[in-house]
Amino acid sequence: MNILLATGNVGKAREFEAMLGGHARVESVGPGFAVEEDGTSFFQNALKKAQAARAIADSDVLVLADDSGLAVHSLGGRPGVHSARFAGPDASDDDNCRALLAALDGVDDRRAAFVCVLVGIAANQVFSVTCGTCSGDIAHTQRGSHGFGYDPLFVPTGMTRAMAELLPEQKHAISHRGRAVRRFAAQMGFPA
Ligand code: IMP
Repeated sequence: MNILLATGNVGKAREFEAMLGGHARVESVGPGFAVEEDGTSFFQNALKKAQAARAIADSDVLVLADDSGLAVHSLGGRPGVHSARFAGPDASDDDNCRALLAALDGVDDRRAAFVCVLVGIAANQVFSVTCGTCSGDIAHTQRGSHGFGYDPLFVPTGMTRAMAELLPEQKHAISHRGRAVRRFAAQMGFPA
């Protein structure tokens, strides 16, 4: 099977390749791929990305799109669908982490969750929709160099290390994306 990832995010693409590479040939649309993410839910944005990639994909390819982000309890679920742009339209991961630390300055309730919604669309328009979440707390300083995005600030529930201090396979075992991918793989009939 060939899977085309509807993402220009290098960090996400690396994770999908690690998790699905044993089951399928996985390629990304590339860094130029951009869809206006104006949906109010992860599902709406994931569907939009999947449909945009479907329109340019070969018919033997299954398109897979991810929309994901961080929901912080004391911020009413923000940054949510705006996670990639929390510090502004061209924000780097470090800009976003700093903006999050500033937003939580003096806040005791640091509970948060990562959310990932995956939409797969085959050439015959058959759909797969799966979701995964990962709960945790926002740390007071950035730690670790693995992963991407808010990983240096996110301490998964029951752990003392930040997500960016975990090896890739340790992250995949507990992450929102890992959970959503395993549900997708089960729908596809990939061996566990
Ligand atoms: P999207 O391209 O709109 O789905 O942007 C997702 C954004 O959410 C990323 O740019 C990160 O800021 C954040 N995010 C999603 N998944 C992760 C993750 O696994 N680790 C850290 N940050 C993530």
